[in-house]
Amino acid sequence: MAKVLCVLYDDPVGGYPKAYARDAIPKIERYADGQTTPTPQAIDFKPGALLGCVSGELGLRKFLESRGHSLFVTSDKDGPNSAFEKELVDAEIVISQPFWPAYLTAERIAKAPKLKLALTAGIGSDHVDLQAAIDRKITVAEVTFSNSISVAEHVVMMILGLVRNYIPSYQWVVKGGWNIADCVERSYDVEGMEVGTVAAGRIGLAVLRRLKPFDVKLHYTDRHRLPESVEKELNLIYHADVESMAKVCDVVTINCPLHPETEHLFNASLIAKMKRGAYIINTARGKICDRDAIASALESGQLAGYAGDVWFPQPAPKDHPWRTMPHHGMTPHISGSSLSAQARYAAGTREILECWFDGKPIRNEYLVVDGGKLAGVGAHSYSAGNATKGSEEAARFRG
Ligand code: NDP
Repeated sequence: MAKVLCVLYDDPVGGYPKAYARDAIPKIERYADGQTTPTPQAIDFKPGALLGCVSGELGLRKFLESRGHSLFVTSDKDGPNSAFEKELVDAEIVISQPFWPAYLTAERIAKAPKLKLALTAGIGSDHVDLQAAIDRKITVAEVTFSNSISVAEHVVMMILGLVRNYIPSYQWVVKGGWNIADCVERSYDVEGMEVGTVAAGRIGLAVLRRLKPFDVKLHYTDRHRLPESVEKELNLIYHADVESMAKVCDVVTINCPLHPETEHLFNASLIAKMKRGAYIINTARGKICDRDAIASALESGQLAGYAGDVWFPQPAPKDHPWRTMPHHGMTPHISGSSLSAQARYAAGTREILECWFDGKPIRNEYLVVDGGKLAGVGAHSYSAGNATKGSEEAARFRG
């Protein structure tokens, strides 16, 4: 019987919710490319419930215990004395969410001789040292597409929020003011702007589709080009490299995975080549941007705004410069963890576990590493290697 170690974010400070703002969430059966939403044999939760926190347990306890497996759930994930590191020594399966990532570094993997499956309840498995997983033949899987649309919606919100100067204007109201000139001195229309996405995968393409009605000029760069029909439909301008796109854009949205090719892609040199007053929205991974280069470009005015929900490490230490830099619209890592998304990735986690225990193949599109090599979505969208370096700094959040 397997020991399943699950790392989830803390419950709300006011306790686990007794009621919700809405009574139901829409039922979605397929994604835009025809892929079905997760198809577990059953679920033991009500869609729309808070599942991603410790008490939510991704709705897995009844299922796992009824099959004789044990489930240990904790939010205590950082540092050598964490519950995660102590429980890891005999765990067969680790489940983690990117929002509150249990970093599975090579050192930690070496301390987990029984570990066979690292399951990401969400999308983005860069918190796992993929090279170490490849070397140890640990399967890495994620719930592909489960929260891609959740993120795409968030990106559109953040583009509008930054360009129209929403957050500072809201703050004037809360402060009791009516300071129109203060609000609008940094407020523009998105209409007519050049907007580009780094990557046109599930999120990037969904962002492009959602932005089309705003009458902006759309650009993208990706390792694989989109079908000609899609380029025509959306009137897309393709760039063979990120630099050529970043130079002409007013707004850049980053939607690629973090892997060795994309780590610190947006550094001081690339940002200096962008138009003065450009905006960056990064909901992909914090480490794709150079932390200090972003902060100083906002200070100097080279960037007019930066927004997103991803940081490195997570949780971000209290003195992380992105908390206090000017003209930012940062939130904690939430875009892919709406209650709607949670229902899908909890169901997908269960689907993957059912396959694992029943000896059935995990959907190819869910696989990142399998059999000692990149597989499925991993083979398409990632490169081998490690992007977890520096993650131990997350321990400073509570230190
Ligand atoms: P997809 O796998 O559908 O898309 C990723 C795309 O990135 C692919 O088209 C891939 O190209 C492209 N890509 C990879 N490397 C590069 C590169 N060096 N330059 C340009 N493009 C590149 O994933 P999603 O769209 O669903 O998710 C993307 C990322 O967003 C995730 O990996 C995760 O990090 C992040 N995410 C964040 C969430 C949040 O809550 N903030 C939630 C969900 C995801 P190709 O396959 O053509 O080689």
